[in-house]
Amino acid sequence: DYRPLTTIEEHRICVCVRKRPLNRKELTVKDLDVITIPSKDVVMVHEPKQKVDLTRFLENQTFRFDYAFDESTANEMVYRFTARPLVETIFERGMATCFAYGQTGSGKTHTMGGDFSGKNQDCSKGIYALAARDVFLMLKKPNYKKLELQVYATFFEIYSGKVFDLLNRKAKLRVLEDGKQQVQVVGLQEKEVKCTEDVLKLIEVGNSCRTSGQTSANAHSSRSHAVFQLILRRRGKMHGKFSLIDLAGNERGADTSSADRQTRLEGAEINKSLLALKECIRALGRNKPHTPFRASKLTQVLRDSFIGENSRTCMIATISPGMTSCENTLNTLRYANRVK
Ligand code: ADP
Ligand code: MG
Repeated sequence: DYRPLTTIEEHRICVCVRKRPLNRKELTVKDLDVITIPSKDVVMVHEPKQKVDLTRFLENQTFRFDYAFDESTANEMVYRFTARPLVETIFERGMATCFAYGQTGSGKTHTMGGDFSGKNQDCSKGIYALAARDVFLMLKKPNYKKLELQVYATFFEIYSGKVFDLLNRKAKLRVLEDGKQQVQVVGLQEKEVKCTEDVLKLIEVGNSCRTSGQTSANAHSSRSHAVFQLILRRRGKMHGKFSLIDLAGNERGADTSSADRQTRLEGAEINKSLLALKECIRALGRNKPHTPFRASKLTQVLRDSFIGENSRTCMIATISPGMTSCENTLNTLRYANRVK
């Protein structure tokens, strides 16, 4: 049986890193592994172990996180130490968020499990599905069963500061904030789900919607944040909410110098939202009363997850192992380091 690793009071923010294996493309160009996970919470960036003529030298750097997962770690294990403890939170009337943060191609979607575009993709093993499985298992426990909770799912995308409903043919939605600072995504579809299979179907619908009409699925998903939520309701009233977010690629900094205006604006928007996100998580960790959630659409729609006494967050920073990615990898590690 599962036991939470730590209590909410002890541990509101968990930050971990996941390294993926070198892929076929990297092996073909003889890219070299510069990342080592020497223990369960340490990440080292170093020169390649193989002898090569280095045009530039990598300074060895070591980072420590709550957990560091090496390339042999499967989704189920990553899940157990990251999102799994947060399932408890939403049953205890809390707000939980889990982010996948990293460069495009580093494994965010693989981890969250929202990708159907490739041939061998299997969303049933990603964090979206694993979390859904455990939500339905938990519902059966006597003390939660008696609450008669209902489960709903939403799936939307934030692209260039605009919200699109992935469960409703990409309808563009407005975000409103009322006098009590409650943020509402007007018209967002909340679908009731009764079992894991219902959730998988919705993820499939949302994913196909996400990528439809795009010349390249990856080019699009690298520029948008995908937000998948599981909401518990009791007699219509919100009891708890779990937001699982596949963030836009963090390498967009380069776009700010792009010749194309639209690309430049998108890059600036992504930078802004990822900076705002960092500040909001930090504020949550420090119990600060003022969370700068208005700084971006992403943090605005997640506002209720950053406030309140029973909010918990987990960030999974995904990294590529190759030397060709090391600049992006270092940026990812530094960002993740500062979140806490
Ligand atoms: P991102 O969403 O960050 O752009 P993806 O999740 O699409 O990256 O991953 C890029 C590629 O690498 C995909 O083909 C994916 O299947 C593969 N991949 C990512 N992480 C892993 C991993 N931990 N183990 C094996 N393959 C992985
Ligand atoms: Mg992706």
